[in-house]
Amino acid sequence: MFYNYFIKMIQYKTKEEVEIMRQSCLLVGKTHAEVAKVLKAGMTTMEVNILVEAFIRDNGGIPSFLNYHGFPYATCISVNDAVVHGFPSNTPLKDGDIISLDIGILKNGFHGDSAYTYAIGEVSEEVKKLLRITKESLYCGVEKARQGNRIGDIAFAIQEHTEKKNGYGVVRDLVGHGLGRSLHEDPQVPNYGKRGSKEKLKEGMVLAIEPMINMGVKEVLHLDDGWTVLTKDRKPSAHFEHDVHVTKHGPDILSSFDEIEKEEKINVNLSWCY
Ligand code: MG
Ligand code: MG
Repeated sequence: MFYNYFIKMIQYKTKEEVEIMRQSCLLVGKTHAEVAKVLKAGMTTMEVNILVEAFIRDNGGIPSFLNYHGFPYATCISVNDAVVHGFPSNTPLKDGDIISLDIGILKNGFHGDSAYTYAIGEVSEEVKKLLRITKESLYCGVEKARQGNRIGDIAFAIQEHTEKKNGYGVVRDLVGHGLGRSLHEDPQVPNYGKRGSKEKLKEGMVLAIEPMINMGVKEVLHLDDGWTVLTKDRKPSAHFEHDVHVTKHGPDILSSFDEIEKEEKINVNLSWCY
């Protein structure tokens, strides 16, 4: 999310608040799974948006992004070279496309916010690798979200796995964020940086960690719709996002990809960053 929309103070959550947040975050995962069940070539991203909004409202939530600083839709749907903040459209998806679907839900006063990049049909090997490495980098970052570490440790772990090891571009203009009663709270959680730098992590912080990783260069373009962010070289970009409660005992992931991965029939191997 763009820097200028942040609430400028870290809001620490009580255990009770974290449990309320977990419900919002899990509902985001369930909403994603509803999409994963039906997503295929020929569908339009506007149809995805309609499905998402209906499911959120049927489950007592409010789409967090709708009207957020004027954003006109319930979801951000970014196809291929669109990085984030894309508008749903009436163009049918094709085999080989990827779509980054970002969903936010406000329920019982707290937001959940989670993004996932889906492959439509068979995608190229290099795109498959981009999706795999980006998802892996998310877990590399999550693993650092523990009391006593710093934001820079999360940032470094993500950059290391994507840019340094795999030559991808880490987007600089957009960052992860604190999450709670507001959709974007301090601290900012960049996907690049130095180990041991920035804010110290403490129990009660809830962070939306969200690598936005380009297959090519890190630079992006902003469309004149005021929202859509594209890669400068028009190569594809991937986006995965989890909401994580920092605890003394390590990261507690409040959101979930389990139901999405069940639909996608993907098994995740988390061994690379330990
Ligand atoms: Mg998001
Ligand atoms: Mg976010």
